[in-house]
Amino acid sequence: MERIEGILYSDNHLVAIDIENGLIHKIEQIDHSFHGNGKKVYIAPALIDNQVNGYRGVEFSFPGLSVSDMHKVIYGIHKKGIATFLPTVITASQESLMRSFANLSSVLKDSYVAVAVPGFHLEGPYISPEPGYRGVHTLEDIRRPDWDEFQRLNEQAQGRIIQITLAPELDGAEEFIKNCVKNNIIVSLGHHNANAEEIKRAVDAGAKTVTHLGNGCANLINRFDNPFWMQLADERLMSSIIVDGFHLPPELVQVFYKVKGSENLILTSDMTMLSGMPPGKYKWNGQEVVLTEEGMIRNYEDNVFAGASLTLERDVANMMRFTGCGLSEAIDMASKNPAKLYGFEDRGTLDVGKRADLILFSMNDDGLNINKTIVAGEVVYKNEKLNYEVVV
Ligand SMILES: [Zn+2]
Repeated sequence: MERIEGILYSDNHLVAIDIENGLIHKIEQIDHSFHGNGKKVYIAPALIDNQVNGYRGVEFSFPGLSVSDMHKVIYGIHKKGIATFLPTVITASQESLMRSFANLSSVLKDSYVAVAVPGFHLEGPYISPEPGYRGVHTLEDIRRPDWDEFQRLNEQAQGRIIQITLAPELDGAEEFIKNCVKNNIIVSLGHHNANAEEIKRAVDAGAKTVTHLGNGCANLINRFDNPFWMQLADERLMSSIIVDGFHLPPELVQVFYKVKGSENLILTSDMTMLSGMPPGKYKWNGQEVVLTEEGMIRNYEDNVFAGASLTLERDVANMMRFTGCGLSEAIDMASKNPAKLYGFEDRGTLDVGKRADLILFSMNDDGLNINKTIVAGEVVYKNEKLNYEVVV
């Protein structure tokens, strides 16, 4: 049995958490205090990222994706406090998507991978072909919703595609969404130019969320007739947002937070293989993109973002800075809320009986300074340099 002590992120009480057989066995308030070097050490659920295209030079659509590639990604994200993520594959030819999902389901046989990956996210290929809306998705691979094709892809994925991002205005989208709902696949609206009526029909059909609200959209839009208002107005829709400081201006994040409320927002990184790499010019997905010093990835030719490079714990800190929300809300947007959306019963909150996925961290100007990450009761990352104790 392992015992972890720290300040509970949700109510600032000093607690001890007992872990047994990989699960949270007991949480109790304690009243003694420690003397350290003045840093407050918090305990929170480890983070869940629902959109990760790759990391540290590894892209999940690599033709030869290996178990060691996945280990490299997972060790890297553990350092950032992330225990769970959805490998995300974007628009590509059917052949390429079939191969990607065959590779992903094959690496999932490794137990270290399986603990981190509960399923996959397919972003595209049934999205808007219009410039701006499609972002960096390749035009020649964008197509109409095709349930037969999707079933073949999901067979390759051994049924582990748990979310698809699509454009609701495409022919056949409504029927496709209904099929997804019957098969417990979360439908997210993204990279689209749907009007209010089309969005409403998609939500009536069972679409549950929006992919990176505010992005995957043309730079110039009609002030009344655009995809945003209805997605904000419909209370049935959750939304993911990229709060890396580049994809959305702070005041837009404030508006999304005020309208959707913290319980309906999900922080997502949308990071790619360039995350964790040195700044410079890269060839990514057949296009020339630039990773800046600050961590922005842009395709300057099309004037669009090419995914993101900052990891999720930075989004948590930005969310607090941009909106003034508390640590508890910001963490929940990156743990509890995605767990709720996907129905992950075993993780996402600190409750007795849940899988012991937790982080110990302090706060600094850059965000969360991760001291320790525990996944299924195992310490998977420990920052030896951070040698402080709990102070209350
Ligand atoms: Zn996207």
